[in-house]
Amino acid sequence: MKYDVAIIGGGLAGLSMSIELARAGFSVVLFEKNTYPFHKVCGEYISNESVSYLQHLGADLEALDAKPIHRLRITLTSGSSLQSQLPLGGIGISRYALDEALAERARHEGVTVCDGTTVKNLSDGILETSAGAFEASLVIGAHGKRSTIDKQLNRDFIQKPLPASENFIGVKYHVKADLPQDLIELHLFHEGYCGISAIEGDRYCMCYLSKASNLKKGMTISDMEQLVLSRNPNLADYFNRFERLYDEPKVISQVNFQNKEKGNSEVLFAGDAAGLIAPLSGNGMSMALHSGYLLHQQVSAHLKGQISAREMTSNYERDWQRAFGHRFSFARWMQRAFFSPPLMEALVQSANFFPPLATVMIKQTHGKPFFPGS
Ligand SMILES: Cc1cc2nc3c(=O)[nH]c(=O)nc-3n(C[C@H](O)[C@H](O)[C@H](O)COP(=O)(O)OP(=O)(O)OC[C@H]3O[C@@H](n4cnc5c(N)ncnc54)[C@H](O)[C@@H]3O)c2cc1C
Repeated sequence: MKYDVAIIGGGLAGLSMSIELARAGFSVVLFEKNTYPFHKVCGEYISNESVSYLQHLGADLEALDAKPIHRLRITLTSGSSLQSQLPLGGIGISRYALDEALAERARHEGVTVCDGTTVKNLSDGILETSAGAFEASLVIGAHGKRSTIDKQLNRDFIQKPLPASENFIGVKYHVKADLPQDLIELHLFHEGYCGISAIEGDRYCMCYLSKASNLKKGMTISDMEQLVLSRNPNLADYFNRFERLYDEPKVISQVNFQNKEKGNSEVLFAGDAAGLIAPLSGNGMSMALHSGYLLHQQVSAHLKGQISAREMTSNYERDWQRAFGHRFSFARWMQRAFFSPPLMEALVQSANFFPPLATVMIKQTHGKPFFPGS
């Protein structure tokens, strides 16, 4: 069978597009290398800009026990801190639960969901996977930050080794904690930051991003947490006190924040595969959903014969830049500021003295609700 659309990657970008395209009447196959449900390195705080879209896709956030979050607290290793209302706010929900719910929804809408299946190669609409060959008229890459398929597709960003200054690792735990459930905390440490916020089932997601250079040769993750992260007194306390709900943390390496090409003659990219925003913005998941929303409209129009392949790609590139260009650059700048203690000290002191400053800065990293039904 030749599918109308094949999607590589079953995270938020891939799953949301698969649901939309199946609802529009196209035959869709989606490949996800892991088997649902599974854990993923992510802070699990989703900005409210995409909540109504998640509901439109069929995610019952109340039944999933997503936690409303309205406040932000930032702390520095010096002990300084800042608390602010989040202008738009968000929800806390694990990727384990959310991706599973959307995968279930996609199956229900008629998507052929091939989980536990890795796409190894792509050429002229033929996908070589661990479950055999598949054919599609159009292929979408929604395979996240970095995948072997990027190498096979010869993408620019994967050709050169990452410079140390741009090479990060991400680590995530689920913990039992005694923190307010409507608060997301960001604790800074030397060249990194750790977020903690409530998710379903009275658990908390504790997730950090650190320059890879903090993990010196011979060090374990636990050594790094003791020697580097715990210089922030809040993190020292949390690592000592909070019970971890699975033995080993989820860890990813070679994380890097850059804008990437949005498509070529072979494949169009959405979500992190099109560009990964610094996680301090708490906006990557919303961007994955929003970029999928933009792309599925162009793909639909093309498959219905309303626009050419070239128009589909250029319209999508234009829409992507309009929607994300500014916040992408601002989040990169903000992340650099996070790694400069004197600058952060000055920003925190200024925002404590003049609270609207915090609101203005938070707004720069976020968009507005993008779904027309919002
Ligand atoms: C440390 C850290 C913390 C973060 N915290 C937050 C946060 O709190 N809030 C927020 O909004 N964003 C956060 N983000 C960003 C957010 O996690 C991502 O932007 C979001 O997950 C992107 O979704 P996606 O669908 O593009 O990719 P993903 O969710 O990564 O999905 C891609 C999928 O493709 C699959 N895949 C890859 N290659 C193949 C292949 N060859 N064949 C088949 N399947 C394949 C993968 O298994 C994966 O499931 C964080 C990121 C990091 C690194």
